[in-house]
This record gives sequence, structure tokens and C-alpha cells, in this order.
Amino acid sequence: MQAGWAETDWDVLVAGGGNAALCAAITAAERGAKVLIVESAPRDWRGGNSRHTRNFRCMHEGPLGPLTGAYSEDEYFDDLLRVTKGRTDEDLARMTIRASEACLTWMQDHGVRFQPSLSGTLSLSRTNAFFLGGGKALLNAYYRTAEALGVTAVYDAEAVHLDLEDGFFAGAEIRAGGETHRVKSKTLIAASGGFQGDIDWLTRAWGPAAENFLIRGTPYNRGVVLADLLDQGAEPVGDPTQCHAVAIDGRAPKFDGGIVTRLDCVPFSIVVNRDAERFHDEGEDVWPKRYAIWGRLVAAQPGQVAYAIIDRKSRELFMPSVYPPIEAGSIAEMAGKLELDAARLEATVADFNAACRGGRAFMPTELDGLATEGLEPPKTNWARPIAEPPFHAWPLRPGVTFTYLGLKVDDRARMQTAGGGAAANVWAAGEVMAGNILGEGYLAGIGMTIGTVFGRIAGEEAAKHVRN
Ligand SMILES: Cc1cc2nc3c(=O)[nH]c(=O)nc-3n(C[C@H](O)[C@H](O)[C@H](O)COP(=O)(O)OP(=O)(O)OC[C@H]3O[C@@H](n4cnc5c(N)ncnc54)[C@H](O)[C@@H]3O)c2cc1C
Repeated sequence: MQAGWAETDWDVLVAGGGNAALCAAITAAERGAKVLIVESAPRDWRGGNSRHTRNFRCMHEGPLGPLTGAYSEDEYFDDLLRVTKGRTDEDLARMTIRASEACLTWMQDHGVRFQPSLSGTLSLSRTNAFFLGGGKALLNAYYRTAEALGVTAVYDAEAVHLDLEDGFFAGAEIRAGGETHRVKSKTLIAASGGFQGDIDWLTRAWGPAAENFLIRGTPYNRGVVLADLLDQGAEPVGDPTQCHAVAIDGRAPKFDGGIVTRLDCVPFSIVVNRDAERFHDEGEDVWPKRYAIWGRLVAAQPGQVAYAIIDRKSRELFMPSVYPPIEAGSIAEMAGKLELDAARLEATVADFNAACRGGRAFMPTELDGLATEGLEPPKTNWARPIAEPPFHAWPLRPGVTFTYLGLKVDDRARMQTAGGGAAANVWAAGEVMAGNILGEGYLAGIGMTIGTVFGRIAGEEAAKHVRN
């Protein structure tokens, strides 16, 4: 860390140390700006949620790097429209999609390596490029690149207050080493993530249920910068209850469990709540298209907990979570292990089994139409009786990935003010503004696309502002 960082006059202050922050810092530094990154995590934990990522979603007219075939702007936008149910800013979304194509080469030029395209059940080889070594390797490459460009990064350094005077950023208070430093910079780029790490804020939005949510990523995204800027008249975008949330293993730690706590068994299971009742069609669609709704479904259940149960036939059909399944030789024994009412669970399983009609081939990787009959809720695919011991179960809890309430921006990543118009010298990138594009729902890999596209724009615009 550079001594005297707190006394230096900076061109660009970047609040945050994840993907969006690094894309912004590198771009600004390449254009000659003197850049300071303040990252509230310690160095070993730097990189926020971006550490956990594996891929980004990218438009391309033909085969590009590891990506096969083509993925057009319209197809990408249609995919986005479907998951957001139209709650997106079309101009910003299309701009982001178009810009994603150039990102892949830019990422490679700045040290990111990609792995060969994926085959298998996720069907992502055409749409999503996977980072070799995951998000951690991507971040390490970006930090190395940034350091080589002269960017200063300070860790354990939290932006606690940003001075906005009539939409003009005039300086920041940074808490580091037990002291609050007043830091001067000509511009600010907010790249500090969502507010999911602040359980009190989540509870205000969701009610007491939020206390049972697990946070899949960093505890450092507490929305301090977001709240501070909103308090000073930044225009909000999105709804505080909207977020990306998936069902994860209920035994995961409160924070930072990451991708290994994800559970992919749901389509081949029955899922029951604490009352041993089913509550949703487990076989509605292929898992990549459905996994993002299950966080909310479990959040709506009593105690925010549910249990996915399979039998011997399905054990090899999905990627397991890092935790071993709970095993039992009978449904009654399983009920005991899960602390569910045994008679109720046996009745739920018996009703389900009786409604499995068969008559079609079971095909685990496609919609096979093997549905229940006369059951509420139905299971519309992969419905096979849960009858052959040993039985396996996993507890499910809502795992929040990131929240969507954020800062409204324009296509130059400029933060908008509630009074109208753009702030003179403040830009935003990544999760902190993702709500402009994600009003609800989620499209796998678009989080990193939004951060990369808007981070690069923010860095470019801030550097331009400094030069002029
Ligand atoms: C388990 C998991 C897997 C995921 N997989 C993918 C994937 O494969 N593809 C994909 O596109 N998306 C994925 N996502 C979502 C993705 O992580 C985010 O969309 C993306 O990383 C956001 O980047 P960001 O830079 O905005 O935020 P982050 O990477 O979270 O960075 C925010 C940074 O801000 C810092 N910070 C917060 N507050 C302050 C403050 N007050 N002062 C200073 N610093 C502060 C944090 O410490 C952190 O470094 C995943 C998320 C999780 C949790």
C-alpha cells in the first residue's frame, strides 16, 4: 500500500474492489488518471462477490474465443426480457448487450484467461464464457494489471461518507486503520455492490423472514455508499425486495458460502416445507431456468426452510452440494432426521407417488413430460415415485446473491440525481446500479457483464472529466 494515500489529491476515487471497480480503475489509469481504490475487505478477502463468479454472458456474431456459434443482440435481449418480465431499461440493456462483445477481448488483454467452452447439461457454451480459475483468478489478474498501471489499492478501507454538494462530489471520508481520513478526489466511481450484507436493511425490506436468509457472497457489501448517496439526493432505481436469490444448502455459513452450497437436486426431488407439505412444481422447467426462483419460494415458507428429498434412482443425476445428504432407509426415518411430522411426510410422499403416472421415458436432461396427474401442486416433468431406499435429503434456505435497489444511471454510467440530470462527477458500475437492467429475475452471467461494461464506461468518463 502506498504511504500517504490519504493525503494525496486523486483524480479518480473508486469505492469498491470487485470486478466493476477494477474495470473502472484500469480503464481510468490507462487514460492517464491517478486512481485510488478503497476496498473495505482485507486484502485476502478483496474482490467482493466477483471472487465467487465463474462466467459472463456475452453477445457475439460468430464463434468468439471460447464461445461457440452466435448469440445475437435480439436473442440476448429476449432472454433478458423473459426473466425480468419486461422490468428493464431497454436502451441501457441493449447498450450493455452490444458492448459485451468487445469485453471478451478486453478481458483477455488485461490478463483474464478463459477455459474451453462447456459441454453438458448447463447448455451454456454459446452464451457464457467461463473464466479459467474462476472469479478469483480474474480479480488477481486485474489487480496485477492495475498495480502495473500505478493504481493504488488500500484494503480494510471503507468509504463511510461521500460529500455531495448539489450533485457535485467534493471529497470522501474513508475509515481505515481505526481512523477516518478525509480524501480528496476530482471524481468518484461507486462500485461498492448491493446492500445484502446488511441484514437489518434486508429485514426492513422483507420483514423478520430476512433474518433466516443466507448471503452467498461477501459480508462487506452493506450498502453504505448506496445509502449515503441516496440520502444526499441520488435517484434510486429498483425495489428493495428485488434481488437474485437461489435455494442453497441450509447448512451453508451465513456469508460467503459461494457456489459450492448451491443445490441442483430440486428437479428430481419433491420439496416439502416445515409442515411436510409440497408447495411448488419441482419439475416446471430445466434447472438453469428455474433455480433463481427457488430462493423466493423457500423465503415464503414457514421458518424460511424446506427439504428436497430424492430416492436412490436420482442420486447421480445432479452436481451435489459440498455437504453430504441426510440419508435414511425409510420416509419415517427421514422425517425423524429432518424433525418433520412422520405421518404427514409419509402421506405427502404417498400422494405424490400415487399421482406419478409414468407412461413416458424419463429423460433427465430435457423436459420429458413425465408429469403427475390430479396432484396440487403438480410436478410437470421428471415425476417418478420416491420409493427406493436409501432416501436422501437436503435442507434448503434462501441464499441471497445480490440486491437490485441501486443508483439510477444513464448510458454514460453517470449517477442521476433525484432533482433531475446527472451528477457532475459521480459514476456508478456493477451491482450498485444493476437494478437499472434487472428490475426482477436474473439471467446467468449478466452480473459480470453489467459490471464490466459499466466499469469500463465509468473509468473512461471519469478520466475524460479529469482531462477537461
Ligand atoms: C456465489 C456467487 C456466484 C456468482 N456467480 C456469478 C457468475 O458466474 N457470473 C455472473 O455474472 N455473476 C455471478 N454472481 C454475481 C456477481 O458476483 C456480481 O454481479 C458481480 O460480481 C458484481 O460485481 P461488483 O464489482 O459490482 O460487486 P462486488 O464484486 O461484490 O464488489 C463490491 C466491492 O465493494 C466493496 N465495498 C462495499 N462497500 C464498500 C465501502 N463502503 N467502501 C469500500 N468498499 C466497499 C466490497 O468489499 C467489494 O469488494 C455471483 C455471485 C455470487 C455470490
